[in-house]
Amino acid sequence: MKTRLSEKTEHEESPALTGEVTAWLKAGGASLVGVANVGRFDDSPTGHHPCDFVPGARSVVAFGVALLHQALYWEGYLAGSEFVLEKNRKDVLQNYFYRQTGYAMVNNLLDMLALRLANLLESRGYRSLFFPATYGTTVIWSFVKQKIPSRAGLFSQRHAAVRAGLGEFGLNNLVLTPEYGPRIRFNSVITEAALAPSPLLEEKLCLGEKCAICLEKCPGAISLRAGFDPEAVWYDAPVATDTDACVKLSGEHYCLGRCLKVCPVARKKAVVD
Ligand code: SF4
Ligand code: SF4
Repeated sequence: MKTRLSEKTEHEESPALTGEVTAWLKAGGASLVGVANVGRFDDSPTGHHPCDFVPGARSVVAFGVALLHQALYWEGYLAGSEFVLEKNRKDVLQNYFYRQTGYAMVNNLLDMLALRLANLLESRGYRSLFFPATYGTTVIWSFVKQKIPSRAGLFSQRHAAVRAGLGEFGLNNLVLTPEYGPRIRFNSVITEAALAPSPLLEEKLCLGEKCAICLEKCPGAISLRAGFDPEAVWYDAPVATDTDACVKLSGEHYCLGRCLKVCPVARKKAVVD
């Protein structure tokens, strides 16, 4: 796993456009915004580098929308409800309430911001592109299962967020941020515009194996990768998630979101702020 990322950039950056893009995203509902130069993606898998999608790309703008704290704590909701029978409550709360409030609606906002930002940048003369935030719907997930056996994203939003300085990977295989821990989702826009890169995170956030509560509470979808440096800031994932197992186990154990809910990083801060 890499512990340093390339900082090479061959273009003059525009701080004014960077500030405008950041302010525009925040006014539209983004909780965090960062910029990576494309040099930070030099270790991308073949065919998945920003320049494979936008040949003259210079920057990747990554941004996140935070999850509502109370959207994650649904396990005790509806106790005693006369409208939702007890036998249906976990299903209703996980597969309707949380999937919408903590997932689909957040991804919809991320996708709309990405589409609008890409269009804004193109109107200034910079070719730009984005990808859907995640394989959200059942129909798309079934299609992906057939066509992409690895389930890998076409462009990794988590890697983009880390390379834009927004956080580091944690043992839950999510990006931990100083402001929201892992309770945030991401999208990004690849663009020809030469924007000013944000500094990379330099201090570790994940408490690592001395914590590992995310692994302990997961019913078995996450496994450690070999050879990661426990002391380094994790710019690449120290673990792998078996997404088929995650889908199956979360259906059986009602644990959607547990791997981010149990993480202590910035949990209180996210609520207090
Ligand atoms: S949703 Fe459940 S099964 Fe999937 S990674 Fe999180 S805790 Fe594990
Ligand atoms: S729960 Fe602990 S080990 Fe897991 S990601 Fe959070 S800090 Fe890291």
